[in-house]
Amino acid sequence: TEEIIHRQDKLAAVGQLAAGVAHEIRNPLTSMRGYTEFLSLDETDPQRKEFLDIILDEIERVNNIVEEFMVLAKPKAIELEEKNIIPVIKNVVSMLEFEARKRNVRLHLECQEEIIQVECDENRLKQVFLNFIKNGIEAMPNGGDLIVRTSINNQNVQISIQDTGVGISEEKLKKLGEPFYTTKKNGNGLGLMVSFKIIESHNGRVYVESELNKGTTFNILLPAKTA
Ligand code: ADP
Ligand code: MG
Repeated sequence: TEEIIHRQDKLAAVGQLAAGVAHEIRNPLTSMRGYTEFLSLDETDPQRKEFLDIILDEIERVNNIVEEFMVLAKPKAIELEEKNIIPVIKNVVSMLEFEARKRNVRLHLECQEEIIQVECDENRLKQVFLNFIKNGIEAMPNGGDLIVRTSINNQNVQISIQDTGVGISEEKLKKLGEPFYTTKKNGNGLGLMVSFKIIESHNGRVYVESELNKGTTFNILLPAKTA
């Protein structure tokens, strides 16, 4: 019957996810084991520092994966509180100013001065804005402009994050939000999946516009009240 098929679909999805997690965690573990074994054989190796740094990087990698998944583990534990979203956005933008400057990216903030109240979990929304803005910065290896813009329409606040980066092909747009889908050497492909989940739990939605070699805009819509 339909229900059984549905269940099998879900089990297949869980299996795929589990395989992905196992794979992503096994790689850094294998590398950590290798370097640790090597270091334990010769405590005076001149590359000691270099290897320890690799091990620390790999620990960080595993930790990031686990942290992203913790958001998914308790989707119901999300606590919504009415908050003005503008200072939340400003806060994230200022957190990334240094990172942007290092990469020759000009950050622009074009947002309303009025109060826009959103039922939200502030820390989770911060995580979302951070993910999108970081992705935008990372999409501009030669620098560029990143604009964060807010606007109000029909009881929704729209937060747009626009970059002048590499863009995303039609074919790859479909893959956004799939766990472990990444095109980056040091990416983990979890940022968008987690961000989409968080927006969903705020009754919002995300839509993407992109043109290859021109840039990408992620638009986040959230139910809001203006004061
Ligand atoms: P990660 O950043 O670790 O790769 P994400 O889930 O944040 O994982 O993003 C997944 C993929 O989506 C990225 O590797 C990249 O290919 C694509 N992507 C996301 N944001 C952008 C953007 N602003 N411009 C171009 N590609 C993007
Ligand atoms: Mg990312």
